[in-house]
Amino acid sequence: MNVNRTRDEVSDEAYQDGNMLGGPLSEIFAVDLTGAVGSCAGCGRRGPVAQLRVYDRAPGLVARCPRCEEVVIRLVRGKDTAWLDLHGASSLTIPLDPSAT
Ligand SMILES: [Zn+2]
Repeated sequence: MNVNRTRDEVSDEAYQDGNMLGGPLSEIFAVDLTGAVGSCAGCGRRGPVAQLRVYDRAPGLVARCPRCEEVVIRLVRGKDTAWLDLHGASSLTIPLDPSAT
């Protein structure tokens, strides 16, 4: 898991790459979604969730498209619930183990 902080060239805010979503999303999904390929609803860019830019200053995590900066994923972990907003992702292609069917 790469948690190196980098600087956002557009907004100059610190963010982490989408690999940091692996832990929080593993609590909700049985598969590792950092390897899933998502399509941005804003610009149509397709790429791995791991390449999203994740900002953690808000209450929760906000993952933005590296091309157009639109919000693709929002995740807020409460005490006993998780609120997940995927409306910025027009689709997710999730790799699965072919031998597990
Ligand atoms: Zn985009």
